[in-house]
Formats: sequence, structure tokens, C-alpha cells
Amino acid sequence: MASTLSTPASTSDFTVDPARVRSLTALIRSTTGETRTTTAPFTGGPLALIPVSSLDDVDAAFDEARRIQPRWAATSVRQRAAALLRLHDLVLAHQSELMDLVQLESGKTRKHAYDEVVHLALTARYYGRRLKHLAAPQRKVGVFPLITQISVNHVPKGVVGIISPWNYPLTMAMADGLPAIAAGNVVVHKPDSQSCLTALAAVELFREAGFPADVWQVVSGAGSVVGTSIVQQADYICFTGSTATGTGIAKLAAERLVNYSLELGGKNPMIVLPGADIEKAAEGAVGACFSSAGQLCVSIERLYVHDTLYDDFRDAFIRRVQAMSLGATLGWDADMGSLVSASQVETISKHVENAVANGATVLAGGRARPDLGPHFYEPTVLEGVTEAADCFAEETFGPLVSLYRYDTIEQAVQLANAGEYGLNASIYGPVPVARGIAGRIKAGTVNINEGFAATFGSIDAPMGGMRSSGTGRRQGDEGYYRYTETQAVGVQRLLPVSGPAAIPPRPYAAVLTFLLRVLRRTTTRR
Ligand code: NAD
Repeated sequence: MASTLSTPASTSDFTVDPARVRSLTALIRSTTGETRTTTAPFTGGPLALIPVSSLDDVDAAFDEARRIQPRWAATSVRQRAAALLRLHDLVLAHQSELMDLVQLESGKTRKHAYDEVVHLALTARYYGRRLKHLAAPQRKVGVFPLITQISVNHVPKGVVGIISPWNYPLTMAMADGLPAIAAGNVVVHKPDSQSCLTALAAVELFREAGFPADVWQVVSGAGSVVGTSIVQQADYICFTGSTATGTGIAKLAAERLVNYSLELGGKNPMIVLPGADIEKAAEGAVGACFSSAGQLCVSIERLYVHDTLYDDFRDAFIRRVQAMSLGATLGWDADMGSLVSASQVETISKHVENAVANGATVLAGGRARPDLGPHFYEPTVLEGVTEAADCFAEETFGPLVSLYRYDTIEQAVQLANAGEYGLNASIYGPVPVARGIAGRIKAGTVNINEGFAATFGSIDAPMGGMRSSGTGRRQGDEGYYRYTETQAVGVQRLLPVSGPAAIPPRPYAAVLTFLLRVLRRTTTRR
């Protein structure tokens, strides 16, 4: 298909062509005339004027969504699957502009922006290929074999509200919506104001892939206003963001008995087991801790290393961290980019200062780098962090990791499970031992000899959090069925379940009792 996209953003000086901004922001439903200015993290300069939606705009988005949803749900599974596969191709074909926008809005490196392109393409392909299976009614066992036939439908919820954060501007904006749309829902989406342009470029591709324009509606504005209105109207809410905001959303949704999935924060542990390959574990830890400058929900912030390996691992890890290159560039050569904002720099600076004041030692990093850009902070490794330090249990959501020793596997499991979160965990070491303890780790994903990408990149695998890290799962079959209502359809043939009118209740009960005993011996569950 020939591309109808406008000229890509001009990015040589970390700005976006104003004409391109206008063509993208025209996709936002907004009548207020008001705008918010976003900032380019690489320079601290203004990036784009993003229109703000009013509450009336949100209402209009829902009205339109409700009007068209039945028509969208009536389209064939084949048509929807084909559009998803076309989207896969378009995302790959337009990766250059998508990566530019991801970098300009978030400050991350090219290679971490590319991770988002891959994740979105994988998600589109997965649901495009799997939709036929997911959407088909499932056969179940009826009360009487042959006489009662049961099938289960998965009908769309209606209008799904999606609220996404800034840290993964492309994939967090779009990947959760694809299964919702595939199931026959219509989406009303509020991306974070800081990351609207990337989300809108993805929506543009979505439309070009053949999805009708209005099945994905975008509104923009403050979470407490526009986000709240979405939560008050949607038939299902998919939220990715902080635990504090997610908890408030759960309370609001409960008032209407509306269901939700919440993908929230984490304080993710890595365990390095005896027998681990130290160089591989150290290399893996660099990626696990500092991808997207640690502004990643599944990023590792606690490293537990067996006493016998600790010194060697620490040396190998620190050597790599100190060799990392930082830079503001749209090229592929930087290992780590900028943080997104001054407030992120402030959070990590405070965590480091507070940890040091409470006895910790800085082994690497520990400094802001205004010489590289206003929001740069070095990848930082701490040792000797005590329970009194804020970063001991609180999520930093930045390039900060703490090293700890342990003696026994039992102790490692206990330490990994400490705290309130349960999103992701990583274990480096012999696979049988790691598999043996994975089930005891309280985390929605456990990656063995990987930081997070083995599970996150495998779209067939469900992903989400236990405890304060959230509820519900994205990806896989669960990521699709969350957007549907389960409906059982029973067909009764020959006889009513309560027995034929000609047989009085007592003899019918005797026959039924006999039958139940026979069935107990003869039938097996499929
Ligand atoms: P945040 O909760 O402040 O904001 C996330 C989104 O929610 C934004 O679009 C924001 O505008 C909106 N929002 C804010 N207040 C709202 C309200 N009252 N009602 C409705 N919407 C509201 O989170 P953040 O600081 O932007 O993102 C960082 C957090 O997100 C971190 O804690 C991180 O761990 C988490 N996160 C989790 C995942 C995951 O998959 N589990 C992925 C990415 C980020």
C-alpha cells in the first residue's frame, strides 16, 4: 500500500516541523483552542503545542464511539486480522519517524526507541495471526452429553478507555489497544501529554492500515480531568502508570462495577545464583537496569548476588557501567539517553543523596550531567544501601540500582519478595535451579538469564503485576479476553433438563441419580 503520510518530522535540531505537529495534533478531539507546550528532553526547549480536550470533547468521543461500536463489532474477523497485519508492516516501514518522535518526546536512545517499534510490530502480528482462534466460540461440556450443547462467546465490552504514560510513548500507547479493537471494541485513548506526538503518529498508521478513523479516538489533557472522565465513562479501563494513580482509578471503576487492568510500578529484583556466568550476568544487568535510562516498569533496581560471586560480579558490572556512553543523539551510538524531565532528575538525585546519607556508597555514577543536556543523569550503582534509605523499597524509576549480598537461596527468595511490588524478576544462573525458584518469586514475570525481554518480547506470554504492581494481564490470550464479556450459550435438544413432562418428579430423580452414577464412571473432562 502506498503511504499517505505527511513529510516526516524534521529532527536535525531536536525539533519537529510545525506542519507535522499540526497534521498529527489534528487527530486529537479538541474544541477548546487551548494548548499545552511539551518539552524536548534532549534540549529542554519547547517541542510542540498539544491541544487540550474539554470534558465535552471527551463526552463527544464516547458518544461517537458508542454510535459506531456495533458496526465495528459486526465486521469480519478476517478484515480485522488483515488490518492488524498491515499495521505490522507499516510500523516497520515507518520506523524511522516513529523512533525520531519517541526519542524527541522521551529522550531515550535510538536502540531503546527501536525496542518499542519491535514490540508494537510483534503485538500487531501476534493478534493478527491469533484472532481467528481467539474470536471463535469455544465448545464446553453440557449438563447432559449430546442433549445439551454449550458454547462460549466472547463479546466485546463496548468502549475501552486507555490511559498511557510517557515512558514508552509508542508501545504503551498502542499495544494495549490492538487486542481491544480486534475483539470488536472501540477505544477512547488519553496518552500522556508529554508523549502525544508519538501516539498520534501510531494512530495515523493505524488508520492507514485500514481501521476506520473513529474506532480509535484520542483526547488529551490533565489526567485528573480528562483521565477521570474516561474512567467515569468507559466500559473497561486499561491503565498504565503509577500505583498511586492506579489505586484511585480502581476505586472509581468499582463505583460502576466496571472492570480494569492496571499495569503499575515495580521495584524489580535480579538474583545472581552460584554457578552463574559472571560476565553474562553483568552484561545482562546493564541492559536490565539502564534500558530507557531505567524509566521502564520492568527495569531492575535491586541486585542480589551470591556471596561467592559478589566481588567478581561487582567488578565486571561496574566496569561495564563506567564504559557506557551517554548522549543526546538520534544516531545509534549512545548506550543511554536523557531522563524525561527535571522532576525525574530530582527524584533520582534525592534517592542517591538520601541513600548516601543513610550509609550507602556510590560505586558508579551518582551525578547529574547538565553538560550533556538538562535532564541527563549517570547510570548509578550503590552498595551498602540500608533499610532507612528511600530507594531501599521505593521505586526510583530511573538509572539507579543497589547491590546486595546473600548467602543462601532461601535468603535470596525472601529478599526478592520483600516490599509491596511484584512486577518483574530476573534470575541469572543454572536453569534448573532458577526454574526451581521461579514459582516462589512474587512477580508476574520471571526472566531466567535475561532481564525482562524474554517475557516482555514474547507476546504469547501474559504480562502484568502481582501485589501493588497491578492487576490483570496484557499480552497473550488474557490480554485479549480482558476486553470481552464471557457469554455461555446453551442449546437443549430432545428433553428439557428438568425431565419430560410425562415422567413424575420422583421417578425422574431416581433415573437422574442412576445416570449421574454412570456418568461419574464413564465421562472424562476434555
Ligand atoms: P502517572 O500515573 O502519573 O500517569 C500515567 C497516565 O495517567 C498519564 O497519562 C496521566 O496523565 C494519567 N493520569 C494521571 N492522573 C490521573 C487520574 N487521576 N485519573 C486518570 N488518569 C490519570 O504515571 P507516570 O509517572 O506518568 O508513569 C510512571 C509510572 O508508570 C511508574 O510508576 C511506572 O512503573 C509505571 N509504569 C508501569 C508500566 C507497567 O506496564 N506496569 C509501564 C510503564 C510505566
